[in-house]
Amino acid sequence: MSDTYPLAAGRGYLAIPGPSVMPEAVLQAMHRAAPNIYAGELVEMMPGMMSDLKAVARTDGNAAIYISNGHGAWEAALSNVMAPGDRVLVPACGRFAFGWADMADGLGLETQIIDHGLQAPWDMERIAAALKADSGGRIKAVLAVHTDTSTSIRNDIPSLRALLDDLGHPALLMADCIASLGCDRFEMDAWGVDVMVTACQKGLMVPPGMSFVFFNAKAAAARKKVERVSRYWDWSLRSDPQVFYQYFGGTAPTHHLYGLRAALDLIHAEGIGNVWARHERLARAVWAACEAWGTEGTMRLNVADPALRSHAVTSLGLAAPDGTRLREWTEQQLGLTLGIGLGLAPDTSPDWHGFFRLGHMGHVNGQMIMGMLGGIDAGLKALGIAHGSGALEAAAGVVAGS
Ligand SMILES: *Cc1c(COP(=O)(O)O)cnc(C)c1O
Repeated sequence: MSDTYPLAAGRGYLAIPGPSVMPEAVLQAMHRAAPNIYAGELVEMMPGMMSDLKAVARTDGNAAIYISNGHGAWEAALSNVMAPGDRVLVPACGRFAFGWADMADGLGLETQIIDHGLQAPWDMERIAAALKADSGGRIKAVLAVHTDTSTSIRNDIPSLRALLDDLGHPALLMADCIASLGCDRFEMDAWGVDVMVTACQKGLMVPPGMSFVFFNAKAAAARKKVERVSRYWDWSLRSDPQVFYQYFGGTAPTHHLYGLRAALDLIHAEGIGNVWARHERLARAVWAACEAWGTEGTMRLNVADPALRSHAVTSLGLAAPDGTRLREWTEQQLGLTLGIGLGLAPDTSPDWHGFFRLGHMGHVNGQMIMGMLGGIDAGLKALGIAHGSGALEAAAGVVAGS
């Protein structure tokens, strides 16, 4: 047997920023015969599940479930409060803001994008200037991506709320928390968010296929003013159902609901504050390792300021093509799958083979993160990619709490 025989047998780690690792409890909860959708356990568990979901979103407002991925939630949210010709303001810090804006465009909305590039957070002065210039009140919503999963920039939603309030601008504040809910601190009501969208396959640890739209009284009032809302996206019956099937506009996503129930139980047993704290410390361990590697060679974190970094995903680069070489090596040799780069335009640019991402969202713990970092360290050595030393010591120090 050669020294290069792969060490990939055993349990892998899919360290991409969604879909995330699924807990055994979620998988087991889903492994069952088809349940009755007219009466019994599934029907009875819904009210408790809706209130537990709202607790994770930190809201006493309303919630609607959709059988869709995050793109569906984007469209659902817009469909309820916007009419063709309305304008949305979209401060963009990576690919996902453009994705949501594109959804708006498809619905006949006018999009006003403020592009911040790939490494900077929202510039409140540029956003303020756009809102001040809107003397006719044409901007009906600001589409705010909390964590952009392509760049790993985490934006400051309370400051955006404060800006809207200071200017007295009535636009709805709509947040995309698909990559941040259940990972980074998010407080829908305390932060004054009117509409929040998320999906189940990231911090919520369930396979892709369900998404959620949360909305407050102001957004509910905006919904009433929209003349036509597509029946399937309409959140009215979903958020206030008289009978079970109205939650879903048809047949329930039965097994996803059992998976979500198990995931919410895990989150509530740990406590949402502890979930946030765990993600933060694991993220700091990742950054400490990357910064040590970066003292020699070409490795760089995409976001320079730690205060602006996501706790769920880290975007970083090596000189091309070493990012791709490293990803291929860790996957083939170790069973460790790192995330491809997203957000460079186009993704076929040669630089793309430098850029990659580490997912550390949801069901991740200290040994998984130390294992991921150890795998990257081994890959850098095996491939002869220049790097600084001491990365694992630095990460272990953070994990040890020192
Ligand atoms: C993953 C993600 C999306 C898209 O979700 P899909 O389920 O792939 O449609 C949108 N926004 C953010 C911030 C994401 O991380």
